[in-house]
Amino acid sequence: MTTQQSWNIVGHEHPIDLLRRTLAAQQVRHAYLFTGPEHIGKALLAHRFAQTLLCTGGPDPRITPLNPCNTCLSCRKVLHGNHPDLHVISRAPDKQFILIEQVRALQSASARKTLEGRRNVFIIQGAHEMNMQAANCLLKTLEEPEPDVVLLLTTPDPGLLLPTILSRVQQVSMHLLTSSQIKTALEQQWEVEAEEATLIAALAAGRMGWAVQAVEDDDLLAERKAQLEALAKLPMVSKVQRFDIAQRISADSDKARAVLELWLLWWRDMVLAANDCLDLTVNVDMRNILKQQAARVGTSEAERMVRALLATMEALDQNVNPRTALEVLMLDLPKLAS
Ligand SMILES: [Zn+2]
Repeated sequence: MTTQQSWNIVGHEHPIDLLRRTLAAQQVRHAYLFTGPEHIGKALLAHRFAQTLLCTGGPDPRITPLNPCNTCLSCRKVLHGNHPDLHVISRAPDKQFILIEQVRALQSASARKTLEGRRNVFIIQGAHEMNMQAANCLLKTLEEPEPDVVLLLTTPDPGLLLPTILSRVQQVSMHLLTSSQIKTALEQQWEVEAEEATLIAALAAGRMGWAVQAVEDDDLLAERKAQLEALAKLPMVSKVQRFDIAQRISADSDKARAVLELWLLWWRDMVLAANDCLDLTVNVDMRNILKQQAARVGTSEAERMVRALLATMEALDQNVNPRTALEVLMLDLPKLAS
């Protein structure tokens, strides 16, 4: 079985290789930070690494193997999400932050003996969502780690974490896949028809996790199309209508982020279209509208919108009121006659 098969991850050879080298040298660090864009597979890689750290199916069960075996009892428990020595922490859907209580629970679990394996593994998904108290509390664990504890953190942007945390973790950066890597994987492993695989691979913009979601959730593509069509009309509507839409989008901050990501891809495409590079655009099924609008908007306005969108996303990360941030963005939008 190849490395790629046993880790069951599409692409990301370099980060997997880096982790295998630390295992081969028997130099597992106390903490790792997986970084890279949303939906790229950070949590998946953290889970596979945790599975390998806990796997007892290697030649010597006392020594961590280089790849997960996927068949031993420990591997099967991790894959089923019920290994007693693997603990996953993330922000609760109804909360704004990962809270100090969650980090304290981690600390008391890490102080006790492992139940089954050779170590306790903790995954902190979206580590940038810890509030200041929780982050400072986690620092204590990073400064005086228990010998058998491994922490795996994920974040889209390491700059969002405290420098004192960054200095105590090994960073594992993950990069976008090519659309042909995604297309091939969709065809071979998910049995998607060639034409649909081409569209999804283009829209995924390098993010395998998004592609898999699009395959598994039939509504996702239809919803994306409806949202894009609405966003495409915004330059033609009145200020009052724009503010209405800003209010609707900002009501749910997770949803606001998803809409902004979609919108950013749209305006990046607009820059490409305005520069006669329509064939490089991601939204392959909307190229007619892109071409028409780009001719009216022009390169510099399109580039200004990309910057405005990035600034809005940054403002949301810094907990600026979502409605205010989106209203400012609506004022930034170019105005076109309908
Ligand atoms: Zn195993």
